[in-house]
Amino acid sequence: MDLFEYQARDVFEKHGVPVLAGAVATTPEEARAAHETIGANSGGVTVVKAQVKTGGRGKAGGVKLAKSADEAEANATAILGMDIKGHTVHKVMIAQGARIAEEYYFSVLLDRSNRNYLAMCSKEGGMEIEQLAVERPEALARIAVDPNVGIDEAKAQEIVDAAGFDAETGAKIAPVLVKLWDVYSQEDATLVEVNPLVKTEEGDIVALDGKVTLDANADFRQPEHAALEDELAADPLEAKAKGMGLNYVKLDGNVGIIGNGAGLMMSTLDVVAYSGDDFTGGAAKPANFLDIGGGASAEVMANGLDVILGDEQVKSVFVNVFGGITSCDAVANGIVGALKELGDSATKPIVVRIDGNNVAEGRRILEEFNHPLVSVEETMDGAARKAAELAAAN
Ligand code: GDP
Ligand code: MN
Repeated sequence: MDLFEYQARDVFEKHGVPVLAGAVATTPEEARAAHETIGANSGGVTVVKAQVKTGGRGKAGGVKLAKSADEAEANATAILGMDIKGHTVHKVMIAQGARIAEEYYFSVLLDRSNRNYLAMCSKEGGMEIEQLAVERPEALARIAVDPNVGIDEAKAQEIVDAAGFDAETGAKIAPVLVKLWDVYSQEDATLVEVNPLVKTEEGDIVALDGKVTLDANADFRQPEHAALEDELAADPLEAKAKGMGLNYVKLDGNVGIIGNGAGLMMSTLDVVAYSGDDFTGGAAKPANFLDIGGGASAEVMANGLDVILGDEQVKSVFVNVFGGITSCDAVANGIVGALKELGDSATKPIVVRIDGNNVAEGRRILEEFNHPLVSVEETMDGAARKAAELAAAN
């Protein structure tokens, strides 16, 4: 999960990284009020900054200096609602203005190919960092970080030396890098980026813009991270599925899929995609990933169907379950229960392939139910083909 800049600022502050005051506003009036309190600390100057989870806000006109409350309000009016690379601006941050002497760059991230962490640092930070990395890679120091050691004082010194800072500036920056490492490791981040990390006219080092990506795999030990989630941006079906505890990812196609176990689910996506190509000329494609997991109950099955049938793009549904811990009769009962609840509002055909634990009873339940929308297929390939053809025909 990527954080907004204002959230990254708060996390930085929590770990002692030097940041400036900032407040979030969703209306020009709120921006005005925030300018009046925050600007008082910085000679009446604030910066109004678009809060979107993409870079290049400055270049897009999403970062504007305000020297009066009127200007803050006008900047917020201009920036709120703006589209930056496909992201609509719903919030701005009013940040205390900094008198920037120099702009630097620092990041630490997961280096998957080397099974390691990587720190990058440059004396030439700011809005042209991508260009710098391409045109003068030597100006961007890259230092491997051992996960078992992290960025301690010695590693921080190595990084600032590699970036070519003079001794005085390096001595000021190194302790900030150690604190940024605390953010990275203690928050279970996969990316912490500061651009620009600035030296002010007063000689202070401040993180002026922050980008943080949190590792969702660590959510179980980071209970505070749930509050950082952006409900506005989440797909409504994904949000609904998450609320029901389902492992669901929306895709672009028209064949809704329910499977149990990530492996079976992945191969079901493949089989549906191949069937769509082979038998419908590409007119049928998977509409989602939905793993109801091992030990799924009738209720979980019903919830899954509820989410998938709520997707307007879905034209047919393929339920592919191999009964292990989950027994096939529970799956069948889940389908029956969901269809009873939906009544006449269920209009999409459902192709079922069940096998494994208690399959005879599962098939018997579906046969007895004898619903016009439900058909049972013996094989995974046959069921995928049928679901694809139904989606293409509907
Ligand atoms: P980005 O373009 O999305 O990375 O947004 P940033 O927050 O990095 O801001 C872009 C640029 O705006 C920075 O590189 C600075 O040059 C400038 N900027 C940001 N905050 C301040 C500030 O408080 N004072 C001044 N003078 N410039 C700022
Ligand atoms: Mn930036």
